[in-house]
Amino acid sequence: AGGPVRAERMVDSLCPYCGVGCQLTYHVTGDAIIAATGRDGQANHERLCVKGRFGFDYSRHPQRLTVPLIRKDGVPKEPLDPADPFTHFRPASWEEALDRAAQGFKRLPKSALAGLGSAKGSNEEAYLFQKLVRTGFGTNNVDHCTRLCHASSVAALLEGIGSGAVTAPVAEVANADLIILIGANPSANHPVAASFIKNAVKRGAQLVILDPRGQALTRFASHHLKFKNGTDVALLNAMLHTIVAEEIYDRDFVAARTTGFAQLAEHLKSYSPEAMAPLCGIDAGTIRMVARAYARAGSAMILWGMGVSQHSHGTDNSRALIALALLCGQLGKKGSGLHPLRGQNNVQGASDAGLIPMMLPDYGRVGIEAARSRFEAGWSVDLDPNPGLTVVEMMDAAAAGTLRGMYIEGENPAMSDPDLAHAREALAGLDHLVVQDIFLTETAMLADVVLPASSFFEKTGSFTNTDRHIQMGRQVIDPPGEARPDLWIITEMAKRLGLDWTYTGPDEVFDEMCGLMGSLSGITWKRLDAEGGITTPGGKAILFGESFPTEDGKARLVPAKGLSAAENPDSDYPFVLSTGRVLEHWHTGSMTRRSGVLDRLQGLPAVNVSPADMERLGLTEGARVRLESRRGSVEAAVAADSRLSPGALFLPFCFTEAAANWLTNPVLDPVGKIPELKVSAVRLVPLRHP
Ligand code: SF4
Repeated sequence: AGGPVRAERMVDSLCPYCGVGCQLTYHVTGDAIIAATGRDGQANHERLCVKGRFGFDYSRHPQRLTVPLIRKDGVPKEPLDPADPFTHFRPASWEEALDRAAQGFKRLPKSALAGLGSAKGSNEEAYLFQKLVRTGFGTNNVDHCTRLCHASSVAALLEGIGSGAVTAPVAEVANADLIILIGANPSANHPVAASFIKNAVKRGAQLVILDPRGQALTRFASHHLKFKNGTDVALLNAMLHTIVAEEIYDRDFVAARTTGFAQLAEHLKSYSPEAMAPLCGIDAGTIRMVARAYARAGSAMILWGMGVSQHSHGTDNSRALIALALLCGQLGKKGSGLHPLRGQNNVQGASDAGLIPMMLPDYGRVGIEAARSRFEAGWSVDLDPNPGLTVVEMMDAAAAGTLRGMYIEGENPAMSDPDLAHAREALAGLDHLVVQDIFLTETAMLADVVLPASSFFEKTGSFTNTDRHIQMGRQVIDPPGEARPDLWIITEMAKRLGLDWTYTGPDEVFDEMCGLMGSLSGITWKRLDAEGGITTPGGKAILFGESFPTEDGKARLVPAKGLSAAENPDSDYPFVLSTGRVLEHWHTGSMTRRSGVLDRLQGLPAVNVSPADMERLGLTEGARVRLESRRGSVEAAVAADSRLSPGALFLPFCFTEAAANWLTNPVLDPVGKIPELKVSAVRLVPLRHP
């Protein structure tokens, strides 16, 4: 008597969570999804993880926003019960709410406005949102969570190989002799991708994990180099030093396909494994052994996650990885490549669609006239040639009073930004904040106008997964109450800002995108609908077999610096804290914490502590502790984690009861402008049991 048997209808769509982009079928009875089963998608071959299989019921959670809300006069902007928004808000008609929202923006100068779009929305929504900010607000102050995710990886990839996306899909691990996994925990964050890595190891591939923390895949690895937090460059440069010094790099590839070798080789001279071993905590012999294994592999892939990117030297970390692949010619051929595992389901597509402050759709820089003129002609406007503010810069500008109005669609910076005390004060201090979401998130609680949007299951749109594969997400159920599709809301907002938009559906938006974005040439909505998924650009899974999309067709070898985190443990704050995700929860938890199965599986915030530290501090499993940093403090239960080294802590950032970002350091990578969420100095204070 399983759910699927009782289903009245089935709809083929996608998982709403991670960048793997699993295809699945939703089984529906009445207006409720009762089950999800995997389809034979290119990225999942019928496999699903616990989130895809069971995490759909948030769409019918009683806390869904079903009516537009306007803040009552005189009530403070403060946290409130998401189940009872009417203490601080009153219900409004769509007409009144949209008029109020647009008027608030029109009253402010364009330089004082900004928008945050969403990597959870479709390509069409992302494209329209950035178009609204650029043409309706008249500014490039538009960004999204890529800034907290892989902004530094993308910056390094664009600089090094001329393209910010993956060079090969995850599935290519099936053809790899060796896989390097660094700063990523796919068993928790990209579980179906992890299953393909396990298959590759069983087939005979060698897995090398470089990570300060252990993980489920460690038992499949030939080597786990548990280096010290924040010392990625020291470790990677020592590997590069070995490859150059021992002349085991691919001379032909380096000569024919790259520039900058001489400068890199000179730079690497001072990074011998012996010199770097004390810094990164890995002995020189092991560094050499792993470097040789990678250089000599017939084919090798590098996959990385936010353990690489979320650092004050995140761009340098990625530069070193890119240099590793280029030196060894591990690009553009079967079983090889560079793959930054994208976090959210559409962070690749949202970035492609121009939801970033320094680049237009397809990554043309706003400061370059040729890039602007294409869109100025297509959109019939003059565009601002100045790059806009990034996510954290927006909070700083709001705190300084230069940014006064924000439109936030489907993002939750009051949970996801570093240094939450600063971020929440900045959001609460805005003259005009409009939040479009499906729940009264921690950010929506601070809004002046809240617009009830549609969940993933309640609209149709295209989504681009981590493999650059654009897939069709189809509407499964109707939005509840007066909630509306995001595309409709953005269009209505644009009309009130004076734009003559007439879009009636995602197909019209997608076809406009295809006309303006070279990466989508040859694709149409009709074709996408018929085929269900198309890889960009040009249907190619593996890129750069012949040349790179740079001016001279060659890749650039760029020396990496940055040997340490911005804030390291000291006598006042002796622990190093990393933040991240857990298998059952996704990002700020707004969806998965409202999914019955997922929240029952993991419903309590816990800080992971090494058994050695627990013994030293007299802590038992479940003991209450307070974590304090220079920015704030949170209380949580202790969970023993033998994968951690003594002195290291891990706290997920999805729990509003113990939001990790009260503690984190807002220092930014100077290139990618990504905050250092992976290293903060904290102290741990045991609390008495009540
Ligand atoms: Fe969804 Fe990612 Fe799990 Fe696939 S691996 S089911 S896309 S969360």
